[in-house]
Amino acid sequence: MKRILTGDRTTGKLHLGHYAGSLQNRVKLQKEYDTFIILADVQALTTHFERPELINQSIYDVAIDNLSVGLDPDNITMFLQSKISAIAELTVFYSMLVSVNSLRHNPTIKTEAKQYGYDDLSYGFLGYPVSQAADMTFCDADLVPVGEDQLPHIEQGRKIVRRFNSLYGKGKIIVKEPQALISNTPRLIGLDGNFKMGKSLGNAIYLSDTAEDVNEKVKSAITDKDRISIKDKGNPDICTVSKYHQAINHSEYENICEMCRNANIGCTACKDLLSKKINLLLAPFREKHVYYEEHKSKVRDIILEGSKKANRIGNETIENVKKAMNIYM
Ligand code: SF4
Repeated sequence: MKRILTGDRTTGKLHLGHYAGSLQNRVKLQKEYDTFIILADVQALTTHFERPELINQSIYDVAIDNLSVGLDPDNITMFLQSKISAIAELTVFYSMLVSVNSLRHNPTIKTEAKQYGYDDLSYGFLGYPVSQAADMTFCDADLVPVGEDQLPHIEQGRKIVRRFNSLYGKGKIIVKEPQALISNTPRLIGLDGNFKMGKSLGNAIYLSDTAEDVNEKVKSAITDKDRISIKDKGNPDICTVSKYHQAINHSEYENICEMCRNANIGCTACKDLLSKKINLLLAPFREKHVYYEEHKSKVRDIILEGSKKANRIGNETIENVKKAMNIYM
């Protein structure tokens, strides 16, 4: 069975964007692949190093969100990044094989750098793709499911692996070069139309939100601003609500767009329908969520068990890596 590596940074609860973009895919993939889920608490530090208490709380939040949507602890290996020493060691070794310049030109890093400015960008943040290369390879992952926007990170990781093998492998493959498994699901935008979603922006529906939260949030979603009256024809292409119908309510999406264009549905009814669909989707997740919240020691055991297994695999990898690099006694 091929192995996949996927996961989340532990920087807060997961929202519908995470579900539509990757969690629902994860649930399907767990039956076909040996699924490794990383709770990336070290990578969370790249942007949240001043808030370690949030990262710690988020380990449980992210783990419970993953389990609540249907990931089966008997099918997957869920582990904590900071518990896997091979990831830390590989990150250091790989960091010798990549130039600062190529990291600066990584499109994802470039975008973030625009936000923070290069002068304030930490060494750890710049090295994010290096640390991702370590995540992907410590456990011999065959595939890494990613959205289009994550491709540059994966590519940079693959380059590092190729360089490592050609430098130290003497014709042998020491670390496996993973492939990207691209998800074509369009990225879900915030309810306010913002490309980014998050707690500070107040524009996301969380998987653990109550039905009332969902209703309130959907009511506030931005629609086609030029549609003043119910008799005006709308444009679903510029409406946030329609994007959510597309992601959550696929079967009715085309019909809703047509009704909107012909002024056969009002925005209030359209939003009510969306709230219903979201609540229907979230209802079983909420039940599991309550269960795991009440049984946090179970969640802890799942993570610790997974980390033990991941460490066993990682220790073998690091043994081979050190031998190949001639740094062993
Ligand atoms: Fe958006 Fe629905 Fe209103 Fe059309 S009817 S503008 S899709 S909320």
